[in-house]
Amino acid sequence: MKVLQLLPIGNLEGGLLMELGPALADTFHVPCEAIPRPLEAEIAFHRERQQYHSSELLYQMQGYVRDDCWRLLGVTDCDLYIPILTFVFGEAQLGGPCALVSLHRLRQEFYGLPPDRGALSERLLKEAVHEIGHTLNLTHCEDYSCAMAPSHAVEWIDLKESRLCQSCRSRILQENQNLFTSSSF
Ligand SMILES: [Zn+2]
Ligand SMILES: [Zn+2]
Repeated sequence: MKVLQLLPIGNLEGGLLMELGPALADTFHVPCEAIPRPLEAEIAFHRERQQYHSSELLYQMQGYVRDDCWRLLGVTDCDLYIPILTFVFGEAQLGGPCALVSLHRLRQEFYGLPPDRGALSERLLKEAVHEIGHTLNLTHCEDYSCAMAPSHAVEWIDLKESRLCQSCRSRILQENQNLFTSSSF
């Protein structure tokens, strides 16, 4: 059976990946495992912006895709950007296999608020489901509570749920019939 691989990028606190793995395995009905050795982020660092080029990291991630890989999700604490935007929460290859999410702007501390571990881990899960959804060919969803709803600020992320709406789930099932074994998905 194919595996959802989690790849830490740069320095990352291990505990968050330990929580994220089972939650994603549950959502997508695939086994999930973390790759122990992190990908170095420095190659994607932009000195003037003091940020990391998201697409460059996605490109570097391809070297980690194994034969038994279902999807490869990179998780980083680095602040990500693409040239046309001031920042991105994450980025994905539409149709797969790689996706990437950043914790940087999901932390309450980034907005001058006290740390909230629960909020951080919920936001991370929502964004991870969202980006993996893109690797499954899903586009943005009009249902504001669906994980595939677009979010340009953390407030929007907090509004949505970590699950996909019925319509997104049926789209995945139609397009990827072999991917899922569980009818409950
Ligand atoms: Zn999106
Ligand atoms: Zn949806």
